[in-house]
Amino acid sequence: MSRFWSRVVRDLTPYVPGEQPKLANLIKLNTNENPYPPSPKVLAAIQAELGDDAARLRLYPDPNADLLKNAVAKAHGVTPPQVFVGNGSDEVLAHVFMALLKHDAPILFPDITYSFYPVYCGLYRVDYRSVPLTDDFSIDPADYCGRPNGGIIFPNPNAPTGRLLALDAIEKILQANPDSVAVVDEAYVDFGGATAIPLIARYDNLLVIHTLSKSRSLAGLRVGFAIGHPALIEALERVKNSFNSYPLDRLAIVGAAAAMEDEVHFRQCCQAVIATRDALTAELQTLGFDVLPSAANFIFARHPQHDAAQLALALREQSIIVRHFKLPRIEQFLRITVGSEAECKALTDALRGITA
Ligand SMILES: *Cc1c(COP(=O)(O)O)cnc(C)c1O
Repeated sequence: MSRFWSRVVRDLTPYVPGEQPKLANLIKLNTNENPYPPSPKVLAAIQAELGDDAARLRLYPDPNADLLKNAVAKAHGVTPPQVFVGNGSDEVLAHVFMALLKHDAPILFPDITYSFYPVYCGLYRVDYRSVPLTDDFSIDPADYCGRPNGGIIFPNPNAPTGRLLALDAIEKILQANPDSVAVVDEAYVDFGGATAIPLIARYDNLLVIHTLSKSRSLAGLRVGFAIGHPALIEALERVKNSFNSYPLDRLAIVGAAAAMEDEVHFRQCCQAVIATRDALTAELQTLGFDVLPSAANFIFARHPQHDAAQLALALREQSIIVRHFKLPRIEQFLRITVGSEAECKALTDALRGITA
């Protein structure tokens, strides 16, 4: 605290990301990164952009990132004016709160969800109501219908539960809220969910957010995007162009475009993660864990006889880190990223010893 801080800064409660420890030989299952490398075409595109002397880095990148917008539009069967790109989907989400969710009525999101949403509400002074998940930790679309609001946002699959909401339930929410924007954050949809992107043709109040951090193995490149009606995209462009003309650098633009074009590599990595997730779920169940059904690249699980915080600590002593949220309703759960087969085996071996 300092007298130089603005009132806004004094009142902020910043988001705390999962730690990125600088230790070697760590099994890192805490921030939902992909265990597989990105498409080799990403590296080739970045190397080509650098050339032999990296002289191009002298020049600003394309402020509109058209190469990337075209690649995203092509991959998802939409047009470039329906695409917004940003420096990670967190930046896209920040602009969404400012551009489309800040109205007089409070916005709605689940009580258990991505914990960055209330942080953006604090930053942009957006009023919100949290809507409790049902007892089995699912979203009930009825809770989002017939309730005046300034907008709706939730991840699908939800984070950190991993539970998927069916498209017909999303459609109910869209139909019941024609005067507010419903934002579906599909950070994990490629691991077993159906994307809501096809609904965009019929609903001008739907915005879908994707990231290249998880299913495209590019958390380090910082690229995310939104797809929606051109009027929603224009709102995001207005905020972006009032904030930073060049949120995506030259390497991110070409690397992300190459990733969007490599459908084969993408499918293979997602399939491998899904297979490992399903095997890990079964293995944890044999160790006595309750595991929520996951459509994501992580598992949300609790053990009826073992305290989650203590389990996380015991794993850490064996150099395995998972995420534990000290929050109401979920403090007995661990969120475990689906790593490589070897990492998941090390995890279940350690848990077998700890829970024995
Ligand atoms: C990981 C994640 C994001 C952020 O992804 P970045 O593109 O890396 O900023 C957004 N929403 C949810 C629900 C996530 O889990």
